[in-house]
Amino acid sequence: MPVTIAAEVLSGCTGCEIALLNTGDGFLKLLDRIEIVHMPLLMDSKYFGPDEGSEEIDIPRSDIGFISGSIRNREQLLLARTMRERCGVIVAFGTCAAYGGIPALINLFDNKDLFRRYYRTAEATDSASSPCEVVPPLLDRTFALDEKIEVDAFIPGCPPHPDSIADALDRLIEGRLPETPVQSVCDACPAKREGKGTVQKIKRFLKNARYQPEKPLGEMRCLLEQGLLCIGPVTQAGCSGKSGCAPRCIQARVPCRGCYGPVRRGGNQLLDMLNALASNGIDTKNLPDRLSMLRFSGAHSMLPRQVRKPSS
Ligand code: SF4
Ligand code: SF4
Ligand code: SF4
Repeated sequence: MPVTIAAEVLSGCTGCEIALLNTGDGFLKLLDRIEIVHMPLLMDSKYFGPDEGSEEIDIPRSDIGFISGSIRNREQLLLARTMRERCGVIVAFGTCAAYGGIPALINLFDNKDLFRRYYRTAEATDSASSPCEVVPPLLDRTFALDEKIEVDAFIPGCPPHPDSIADALDRLIEGRLPETPVQSVCDACPAKREGKGTVQKIKRFLKNARYQPEKPLGEMRCLLEQGLLCIGPVTQAGCSGKSGCAPRCIQARVPCRGCYGPVRRGGNQLLDMLNALASNGIDTKNLPDRLSMLRFSGAHSMLPRQVRKPSS
């Protein structure tokens, strides 16, 4: 009997599903062991959403449920709950589902601010009233999956590396849960650290990092020690898959932006990062944009809401 799989996309970009397809041959090899019973991105599997008086969404039962995207509105909450009820194992697929991801940046603002900006003060469009019919009502903020339903496994990444997806699928099909490394991007980074703690001020990434193209990556000085805001110290490793290569952005000599989320669930990523900065001699008051440091981890109340002046 093939293992049945259902997949749903909530508040996300479907990049995680594209990464699933990018597992290529690995995915094709799995096709005789799995049966996809529901995956709106790949197949025509309609469900009937909630209507007045009913909160039911019709999704087929399955052994494994992959959910990408975070939870932002009432319909997505119902979808997540239905998936939980119909699937034996629930996997938070990608950083949006695991930690809120980019959609959770909105947690810096409340819904009033959001509607005012989108519908009344945006420079490129005419002012309009906020939508209140047909579209599902918003929740008060964006939630990671495990804030609303029980989650059995997490595959972080924006998107996750295809190797990690193929590995996770393999384990899940055999009835085991995928494992995530408790290692940071720094642990996997070959850049040279001198540990002198002399940065003082973070620079915006407007100019390339200093490195010599003809020399191996291990000869490049750590980007954070060069004064570039690299979130590697507090970001979970794994973005280069099984290749054993350096983290993907570091390969391109670009600072890590934290797309794999925190190293440990339940820790305080902001505090950890401020400590990492302080140990490099960086005065955190001079950070160009302190809140964007956690741009991928904005659920779990990690982003403090910005206080706005009352609207005129
Ligand atoms: S984790 Fe990244 S790739 Fe996946 S849905 Fe969210 S934004 Fe898209
Ligand atoms: S801070 Fe960035 S550049 Fe430095 S070791 Fe960590 S991941 Fe590499
Ligand atoms: S280096 Fe950081 S931002 Fe870049 S892919 Fe890896 S985890 Fe994501």
